[in-house]
Amino acid sequence: MEYYKLIEEQRRFFEGGKTRSIAFRKEQLQKLRDLLTENEKELAQAIYRDLRKSEMEAVSGEILPLISEIDFHLKKLDGWAKPKSVRQNLLSLPSKNEVRRVPFGVTLIIGAWNYPVNLLLMPLIGAISGGNCSVLKPSEIAPTTSAVLRKIMNSTFDRQYITVVEGGVEVNKELLDLPFDKIFFTGSSRVGKIVMEKAAKKLIPVTLELGGKSPAVVHKDADIKTAARRIAWGKYMNAGQICIAPDFVLVHDEVKAEFVTQVKKAVKKFYGKNPQTSDDYGRIINQQHFQRIEKLLIGVNLLHGGDLEASENYVAPTVIDGVDWEHPVMKEEIFGPIMPIMTYGDHKPPSQLLRAIPTPLALYIFAENEKFIDQTIENTPHGGTCVNDVIMQIINPNLPFGGAGSSGMGQYHGKYSFECFTRPHAIMRRRIWPDPSFRYPPFGKKLFLLKKLFLR
Ligand code: NAD
Repeated sequence: MEYYKLIEEQRRFFEGGKTRSIAFRKEQLQKLRDLLTENEKELAQAIYRDLRKSEMEAVSGEILPLISEIDFHLKKLDGWAKPKSVRQNLLSLPSKNEVRRVPFGVTLIIGAWNYPVNLLLMPLIGAISGGNCSVLKPSEIAPTTSAVLRKIMNSTFDRQYITVVEGGVEVNKELLDLPFDKIFFTGSSRVGKIVMEKAAKKLIPVTLELGGKSPAVVHKDADIKTAARRIAWGKYMNAGQICIAPDFVLVHDEVKAEFVTQVKKAVKKFYGKNPQTSDDYGRIINQQHFQRIEKLLIGVNLLHGGDLEASENYVAPTVIDGVDWEHPVMKEEIFGPIMPIMTYGDHKPPSQLLRAIPTPLALYIFAENEKFIDQTIENTPHGGTCVNDVIMQIINPNLPFGGAGSSGMGQYHGKYSFECFTRPHAIMRRRIWPDPSFRYPPFGKKLFLLKKLFLR
């Protein structure tokens, strides 16, 4: 009931028309920017409490990308929001035609815990740019960050425009029963299905940013040392709890040994001999996930790491092999610092092996041969690609970010965020004159003439 009243208030505010103004939207974006710079320290500390994420990772991975996205929107919003004239066609002669991007109305944004600030506020930037009101639900699994977000957001924005509500699964379920105009969800494919099912009952459009097992393919002609360093960086950052982290490596069998040697070297260089004492190495979010990851190590061959410390949810940067595609570690998204090494040979292209797994969010390919790269991209279903690097594809706001199939639907970032939170609205303007009788009954031979005109 409480939430029902809240969205009624937001709907009234939206219908008041204030959010239609581009100047208003820009003002709100600026407010959000100021809030981030003023509260950077408090947010980074909260993220550290929840995830033991270093200040460098918290600021560079969560807060700075938000500021840069806001700046991009402030610069581009006028152009994106401008109605676009489109040509008339033969049948619509004479008419004036335009497409306007219009907001959905009251939106629900549900975040995940691994980037608890970024994943909640990045979609919000699109919602503001698009002219919507928003209810935000941060993840209860990062409770300190959730509480800080509620405090600073709710003291900055009017409740009837943007508000943060805290809570767990029960609150989410309650929210998903309400008549929002758009739902933006970030989380697992499992919960994504629940969200879509609930939304379908009310025909609410959804954007689903989900997960999956993103592979890193390493071909025999790749620069192995750089590939290993970059993959290790992307795999062990935030202790592997990144939706677009390389989940596993699929390396050409001729270069496997060299690749593993280089990954081990990179890990030592990044985190020292004992990553447990490194300030730059994170922890698993909670006991439940720690135990889930611990189980994934049953029956594997350890090539590196494997140390666990339950009292602090520590899982060392780990490299494994000796598993087949049916092993549990290859059946679910790992979301932790375990790097399985799978191989392929000259007889079977990697895409043939990768087509058997559910569609991942990202595909990473380390190779020099352009034909190999293109064929792997084309023949492997996935959300987005990065060649000769990992994770970097999300830092360019000119590129859409989103999954495909089981890794989600819909895109955001930059202009795609604006489009994600607006719909194209068609407007045709006609005059009263001329009004030829051709389209009105009686039809007589008109169909014959119509076909002559169109099937020339
Ligand atoms: P999750 O799906 O468990 O939870 C996400 C949200 O859903 C939380 O707010 C939670 O309260 C809610 N929720 C959980 N169970 C629910 C239920 N039964 N009914 C309704 N709501 C429910 O995901 P998570 O553990 O927070 O995040 C990890 C997953 O998210 C991974 O799969 C990861 O790949 C994915 N992810 C995707 C992206 C992306 O941008 N595509 C980003 C980060 C994480």
